[in-house]
Amino acid sequence: MTDFGEESLDFAGEAPAGGATGQPWQILVVDDDPDIHTATRLALDGLRYAGRDLQVLRAESAGRAREVLAAHRDVALVLLDVVMESDAAGFDVVRFIREELKNDLVRIVIRTGQPGAEATRDLVARYKVDDYRTKLEMTFEHLRTIVISSLRTFDLLRQLDQQRRDLLDANLQLEQFAYFAAHDLQAPLRGIAGFARILRNSEHLDDRCVSLVEDILASGAELQMLVQDLLQLSRLGRGAMEWGEIALGPVVERALRAMEPELSSRRARITVDPLPTIRGSARQLGQLFRNLVENGTKFQRSTEPQVHISCRREDGGWRIGVSDNGIGIAPGDLQRIFEPFRRLHARDEFPGTGLGLSICRKVVELHGGTLRVESTVGEGTTFKVRLPSLGPPNDVLPAGGAVHFGVAASEAESSG
Ligand code: ADP
Repeated sequence: MTDFGEESLDFAGEAPAGGATGQPWQILVVDDDPDIHTATRLALDGLRYAGRDLQVLRAESAGRAREVLAAHRDVALVLLDVVMESDAAGFDVVRFIREELKNDLVRIVIRTGQPGAEATRDLVARYKVDDYRTKLEMTFEHLRTIVISSLRTFDLLRQLDQQRRDLLDANLQLEQFAYFAAHDLQAPLRGIAGFARILRNSEHLDDRCVSLVEDILASGAELQMLVQDLLQLSRLGRGAMEWGEIALGPVVERALRAMEPELSSRRARITVDPLPTIRGSARQLGQLFRNLVENGTKFQRSTEPQVHISCRREDGGWRIGVSDNGIGIAPGDLQRIFEPFRRLHARDEFPGTGLGLSICRKVVELHGGTLRVESTVGEGTTFKVRLPSLGPPNDVLPAGGAVHFGVAASEAESSG
């Protein structure tokens, strides 16, 4: 084992507990003054937290501290001097911990010979330093209290971090389960639909049986739609995304062309403002706009459904609005609609699986954005997609006016 000047404190009569959770808490003391090491050792003598001993590691320079920290990933607390081989050597260690090791869990307490300037306070805040004191201020009692409270914070943060990982893991497993379940349901479903079609064409069926077979086919089609949406949702984020610079205008145009039969049967009119180029997946973004436009033209009582896709700059990103003149959503339902399988209407009123908006939200989040909704019942709904911008030099909207799709304006006017 590399010799990092490691010392275990000798706790009279206290045998260290066994097992991983009984391991001593590791504390690293970084100081170029040997007296500080001796004093710290004395101050911490006999101290325990949560039934576990303390193990003190030592480093006499910032360089040495970096080596110790790189080798001991479980250090819970660093007691750190500032002025060592350079005037700000301690702050280089802080930066190394938070930025290079990306270790946000380890607690840091700075003990300095000289009180800090304004710039120091900024660093203390930015790098989440737990305490910053002059050495004179720090009595034995102070030090013991700070060590215990830092260990408590470290312990809580580590538990939270573990819970977060467990949740991510459970989520991943659930997504995998949904994916395989949906995937494996496809083949038997196709089989049922196929056999039902053969049965419908049989000459031995009376009218009542034909009508029952039609019902089987209709339910089968609904189930197939559900399985496809579920597959799509659980596929998002699986594997590598085909990521690139995507001009949104053509993506939306392709999505709308693919929907043409459905849009014209609803006599819908879609207008699209110039859209920017962003970084993302063309397939997923096409899906996003298809779902939003589909909803905007579906949840309607108007004989002239209208959807407008707008775009403008907002806080360094893009805000793309998809607005309709549909039935609207009551304030109490605005958040619920993003939950998987949440539908506000009976299927025979408005068909659907209740997964469209979950897919939309996931797509937007995978693109580093947010999806929100505003609505007025009886007037219409606007979904607001916020996406990060690409940055110069492509960070502009293309020139040009709104593009129209669907029922020609004159046709829509004459039918009104
Ligand atoms: P689906 O469209 O398959 O029912 P979604 O997840 O796309 O499922 O939407 C969930 C619910 O949110 C819909 O069932 C509907 O009640 C409501 N909703 C979504 N978009 C709109 C809209 N543009 N106008 C009114 N209600 C909407």
